[in-house]
Amino acid sequence: MRIARFSIDGNVAFGAVEGESPPGSTDGLVLDIIKGHPFTDFELSGTKVPLNKVRLLPPMLPNKVVAFGRNYAEHAREMGNEVPDAPFAFFKPSTSVIGPGDEIAYPSFSNEVHHEAELAVVIGRMCREVPRERVKDVILGYTCANDVTARDVQKREKQWARAKGFDSSCPLGPWVETDLDPSDLTIMCTVNGQQRQLGRTSEMIHSVEDLIVNITEAMTLLPGDVILTGTPAGVGPLTVGDEVAVTIEGIGTLTNKVIKRG
Ligand code: MG
Repeated sequence: MRIARFSIDGNVAFGAVEGESPPGSTDGLVLDIIKGHPFTDFELSGTKVPLNKVRLLPPMLPNKVVAFGRNYAEHAREMGNEVPDAPFAFFKPSTSVIGPGDEIAYPSFSNEVHHEAELAVVIGRMCREVPRERVKDVILGYTCANDVTARDVQKREKQWARAKGFDSSCPLGPWVETDLDPSDLTIMCTVNGQQRQLGRTSEMIHSVEDLIVNITEAMTLLPGDVILTGTPAGVGPLTVGDEVAVTIEGIGTLTNKVIKRG
């Protein structure tokens, strides 16, 4: 099931996305409004609205976004870094999250903002110290993410809070796919329609299971928390006016435009 979060007539709702649409379009998709909340047993109301008549929101409002770095060897190499032995995590704040179609506001303190297409894991239940065999039980589903990064700031500041945590640096969407095997999916990033990144999630050094085991050794994850799993090679600059799109096989496409911060 594809679960979207959206606003309609001033209210926020979740809905199951139904139907098929041509690539790059939402024509033909409808939302069956969810009664209750996706983290609990819920029912579909049967009340349907065309998807292109509503505004999609970030599919979740996470308490925290935990992002893993250098999880694709070729990307680590392109940045001149060693491949780490163990997973390493950093945070993106909840205030960095934006939804599909929202604008990435180019920060004033950077001259080099990069795209990083990533598979995002959405947590479905409160959990900690999750054993490998239970990881699938704590996952609600998967969505597309862009770990937007001020690369120049990342290089000159030891901690990445500003470089990777500025407002609008974590686009998520367009919805959460709950029925998906994440182990070997095509992941792609285009800028203004030109392909920049192309990889497969099977190239991850540490699997989704590894990452969830690793982070829950340290901290409790809450329903709606989001885990970013690293980016394949091909990262590169964004400029004001660009349209950046992250597409993951079996999920869909997350598109955002880059604007100057007002
Ligand atoms: Mg990243």
